[in-house]
Amino acid sequence: MSKTMSKTVDKAEQYFMHTYNRFPLVLERGEGVYLYDENGKKYLDFGAGIAVFALGYGNKSYNDAVKAQVDKLVHTSNYFYNKPSADACEKIAQASGMDVVFLANSGAEAIEGAIKVARKYYYEKTGNAEGEIIAMNHSFHGRTMGALSVTGQPKYQEAFGPMLPNIKFADYNDFESVKALVTEKTAAILLETVQGEGGLYPADKEFLQQLRALCDEKDILLMLDEIQCGMGRSGEMFAYQTYGVTPDVMTTAKALGCGIPVGAFAARGKAALALKPGDHGSTYGYNPLAGTAINAVFEQFEELDLIAHVKEISAYLCEKLDALVEKYDCIKERRGLGLMQGLEFTHPVGKYLVEAQEKGLILLSAGANLMRLVPPLVIEKEHVDQMIAIVEEMICE
Ligand SMILES: *Cc1c(COP(=O)(O)O)cnc(C)c1O
Repeated sequence: MSKTMSKTVDKAEQYFMHTYNRFPLVLERGEGVYLYDENGKKYLDFGAGIAVFALGYGNKSYNDAVKAQVDKLVHTSNYFYNKPSADACEKIAQASGMDVVFLANSGAEAIEGAIKVARKYYYEKTGNAEGEIIAMNHSFHGRTMGALSVTGQPKYQEAFGPMLPNIKFADYNDFESVKALVTEKTAAILLETVQGEGGLYPADKEFLQQLRALCDEKDILLMLDEIQCGMGRSGEMFAYQTYGVTPDVMTTAKALGCGIPVGAFAARGKAALALKPGDHGSTYGYNPLAGTAINAVFEQFEELDLIAHVKEISAYLCEKLDALVEKYDCIKERRGLGLMQGLEFTHPVGKYLVEAQEKGLILLSAGANLMRLVPPLVIEKEHVDQMIAIVEEMICE
């Protein structure tokens, strides 16, 4: 990249490994649903740091809790217990319907843990380590080698082979394609309840229910990745709760810590017993600072009645987006669940993302033609109206 107007951009381009194509925008602070760049320019945020900042920016209770914990104790190691993390595990387990939780540091690590649960479960059951995982085409589960191996997007895998063995890929929302891959060796079926990076496709209700029944019948673990669609975004705490289907293993991250890096995998029933002392670990996992952030997030969900708010505001958002689809031929469809919505255009949306920034709006994409809207869960109708007005202005220009 040639020199820009910003010293920070130039420095990052010189010293940060060149793994990202970033927008030349330096963000400095946030307030509610707005972000401010280094020049003081204000942006309405419909990206939330990729579905992370559920509470918006500068939530006082969350900030105070995290700041107070910094002064008390930031790290303990896993030789000892700490109260914030114990409380966080209780909260995640009770909200998700799982029995036990493992706290890690990111989404990819949560997926690594889920893969280990699947393999260990199969190993205990059969005495051999040949268990297979069925994952989905167009899925996204993270960038570590294990998470990449279950990510059904060859463009991410190509240069980094060989991937983990014994992984097969079926088509999302195509039950027969999953069933056709099931053998005696199948340990687990892994999917996102709503495919995020793959293009905002929610699972069909029948598909999830059929998978649940198949897994019950064959003693296979159903593992749902809720890293993006979980933590209230769907209009329930976890998206599978909108389907009435409970997995054996689930993963969460992104909004779980609302910016403090943390992820978790959780399991119930026999899957909860698979990993034993010595089977898994993480130096930073079960960290009191992350535990405090998780507790503050759950407390704010209650205090702000966020689930009810998401139900209401997402209905409003969908209504407004549907009106755009109706009005403009260049928009093919809206799809998604709750406050995780996409608008599919007939052409690439990259130019809109840049133009939107000029107009003071942050939007994301998921694939070339899909505009992705994953705002903080605390957005109000007026913010939806502002976003719609800017998108409409761009379409018309
Ligand atoms: C973001 C994401 C991940 C990976 O999370 P990281 O914290 O980036 O490692 C995994 N699964 C899904 C569905 C995601 O959206």
